[in-house]
Amino acid sequence: AKGQGKGRQVTYDPAMDQRSAEQSRLAADLRIALDTDQLHLLYQPIVEMPGGELFGVETLVRWTHPVRGPIGPAVFIPAAERTGLIVPLGAWILEESCRQAVRWRNELGAAAPQTVTVNVSARQLREAGFAEEVADVLARTGLPPEVLTVEVTETAVFDGGTALTELRAIAGLGVKIALDDFGTGHSSLGLLRTCPADVLKVDKSFVDDVTEGGQQAVVVAALIGICEGMGLRAVAEGVETAEQAAELQRLGYRYAQGFYYGRPMPAAAYTPAGRVAA
Ligand code: C2E
Ligand code: CA
Ligand code: CA
Ligand code: CA
Repeated sequence: AKGQGKGRQVTYDPAMDQRSAEQSRLAADLRIALDTDQLHLLYQPIVEMPGGELFGVETLVRWTHPVRGPIGPAVFIPAAERTGLIVPLGAWILEESCRQAVRWRNELGAAAPQTVTVNVSARQLREAGFAEEVADVLARTGLPPEVLTVEVTETAVFDGGTALTELRAIAGLGVKIALDDFGTGHSSLGLLRTCPADVLKVDKSFVDDVTEGGQQAVVVAALIGICEGMGLRAVAEGVETAEQAAELQRLGYRYAQGFYYGRPMPAAAYTPAGRVAA
């Protein structure tokens, strides 16, 4: 109450108060969403250039709030991370993605995505026994480990503690590791020495610059060289135009992901023809 705690002056920021109230409301609703089927998964194609044949997919979670309608993951994932809800949410995303990967392999055979990429947040990676959980999910679903790619950001790996240990254990299972948003963090190149990476996702901000004559165009050119030298698969993220695709290929890129090749889509959009239905 007013007048109390005089020595403890805290500046009142109504905007911040509103934000955190909003965050806790969101987290409370998300807890319900998890139990009531409000969440679903979309899969965005990762393609091989120049033809744009399907190589793999990345799982992207969606939430249709009963009152507010669709809420993007950029809004609710941070809330889920802060509250720890990302742990059960992430477990569900991982298991459902593995189940879907098995379904595709059964239904589509050779036309099935060769890899299913699941985003794993720092908070999940910090949980002791996360690698064990991955092993359990693979055993439960019968998915061959090499079909799963676990995608982490460099900040998640550098979160300290056991993250790197867990990641190494996951790699030890035969699961592929992708580094997301590569180049946007603080210690990207150093990370390549310690972290068991198989795939490097070159961030959209760099990809945008290849046709806009931006300063970062040189980063895109350098990263493909690093990937080739280190035996990593480079995936260019956020490819939106034919011009970007052409320039990336000229630089030596083979794998791309972005609206130009395909939006995030429901599992049923992947068909036996091996091509993504428009
Ligand atoms: P991200 O992992 O970097 O995922 C790529 C984001 O870029 C997705 O946004 C995707 O829809 C969008 N995108 C793909 N191609 C293009 C393009 O050509 N142009 C543009 N403008 N955008 C493109 P989305 O689905 O809204 O997800 C946003 C972020 O939320 C993700 O960024 C990821 O950090 C997080 N996220 C989404 N799903 C999950 C999940 O299942 N688990 C966790 N931990 N995080 C998730
Ligand atoms: Ca990602
Ligand atoms: Ca990304
Ligand atoms: Ca991102």
